[in-house]
Amino acid sequence: MRFSKSFVKTLRTAPKDETARGAQFLSRAGYVHKELAGIYDYLPLGLRVLENIKAIIREELNNIGCQEVLMSSLQNPEPWQKTDRWDIEKMDIWFKTELAAGGELGLAPTHEEPITKMMQSYISSYKDLPVYVYQFQTKFRNELRAKSGIMRTREFLMKDLYSFASSEDEHNKFYHAAEQAYKRIYDRLGIGQDTFQTFASGGVFAKYSHEFQTLTDIGEDTIYYNADKSVVLNEEVLNDEVLTELGVQREELQSAKAAEVGNIFTLGTKYSAPLGLVFNNKDGERKIVLMGCYGIGVSRVMGVIAEKSCDERGLVWPEQVAPYKYYLIGIGKEGTKQAEILYRDHENTILYDDRNLRPGEKFADAELMGIPYRVVISDKTLASNQAEITNRATGESKLVDLNQIQF
Ligand code: ATP
Ligand code: MG
Repeated sequence: MRFSKSFVKTLRTAPKDETARGAQFLSRAGYVHKELAGIYDYLPLGLRVLENIKAIIREELNNIGCQEVLMSSLQNPEPWQKTDRWDIEKMDIWFKTELAAGGELGLAPTHEEPITKMMQSYISSYKDLPVYVYQFQTKFRNELRAKSGIMRTREFLMKDLYSFASSEDEHNKFYHAAEQAYKRIYDRLGIGQDTFQTFASGGVFAKYSHEFQTLTDIGEDTIYYNADKSVVLNEEVLNDEVLTELGVQREELQSAKAAEVGNIFTLGTKYSAPLGLVFNNKDGERKIVLMGCYGIGVSRVMGVIAEKSCDERGLVWPEQVAPYKYYLIGIGKEGTKQAEILYRDHENTILYDDRNLRPGEKFADAELMGIPYRVVISDKTLASNQAEITNRATGESKLVDLNQIQF
């Protein structure tokens, strides 16, 4: 990206009701634009971060045999009526709309009902199972309160995965594979260290579901953990029975604020029974398909990373999710000439600040935007055919030979 050609400008102030620090930086540094409370636009830099997060998730899910689809955002009320979730009393976060030709539609808050119905067209025998289907899709939820920038919004990007199995054994095997994949995903996103798999309430078909909770002071949830963090649980399952089962005592647990970045859930026949998703087993008997669902809040994850990795000057992206790896600045006539050449050879990894501004202003924007490495080429560094590289996270600078830089 050539900064002088970008329509986005960095801003001195964030929207006035934006209170979380990471959220303020995301606005000021030009990653997102706020339309309304809980409704955001993703600008070119923000879109690149989202795409990087998606690429990591996609790779890990494809590795455990998942297949990607893209389902519609406009939803038929009929399957939701069958599972008794269409009424606003049953699910208070619905956005609904009307067809010009008459009749109502829902704006996707999630996709259990439509995907269960869709799979009826493709599952009829045990030979068709198991299957795992996922998507990256926009969800709409009429949340009472939007919070913490892109962490709780009314329109957001979710990765939702659904598993379909012919037996509990088959289901459990995949559930376990998904747990492992989620761990790898959060590790690769740079938040693995602070992300815990928690015991959460499981509904009718399983004792527990599992959530993935990332420690952050602005998180909306409270989690309870013991010192070595091998047992972590959500508030809603903090009771004597569960504590006994998990072998911990209340006094051994500390609490912390966290944000839910994902969850995995055994659904059993909750949706497949009312929607009639059945298959013939080996003996020719009709059985109900066993389902699981597995969510990750992609845009929330971006907000959580921003919140956790920033300092008083701006964002500090982990390299894997950063929109660009290098922030390039040329100083002086020769420095600028050399910067131009480097940029043209490595447009995909360099944000080139070619604006007609003082170096100090460019340095400030480089820090605000949180690009991992700042590369400065000046007439002085060029004298030894080098560039000065500064690490955004550590603040360390060093001179590196131009042909040694791993663009
Ligand atoms: P929460 O308890 O935070 O409302 P949820 O239980 O409603 O989450 P799911 O319906 O399981 O969440 O959605 C899957 C994931 O999508 C969540 O783990 C979370 O990361 C993300 N998510 C849920 N609601 C929102 C929202 N309003 N804005 C952004 N991300 C969200
Ligand atoms: Mg919710």
